[in-house]
Amino acid sequence: MKIICCKEHAELAIDIIVDEFETPPVVELLTENDELSTACEYCKEPGIYKVSNI
Ligand SMILES: [Zn+2]
Repeated sequence: MKIICCKEHAELAIDIIVDEFETPPVVELLTENDELSTACEYCKEPGIYKVSNI
């Protein structure tokens, strides 16, 4: 699972992954161009972080 989110919603995304998978997620700054153009899952801001479980 992978959630793209803005700074504002990073904590929310982390909570959701912890709830669902009961493991701490990996939080990375977006670097790739295609990901940088992705909007936050929870608002219309551009995504800054990628929160994923392994
Ligand atoms: Zn957001």
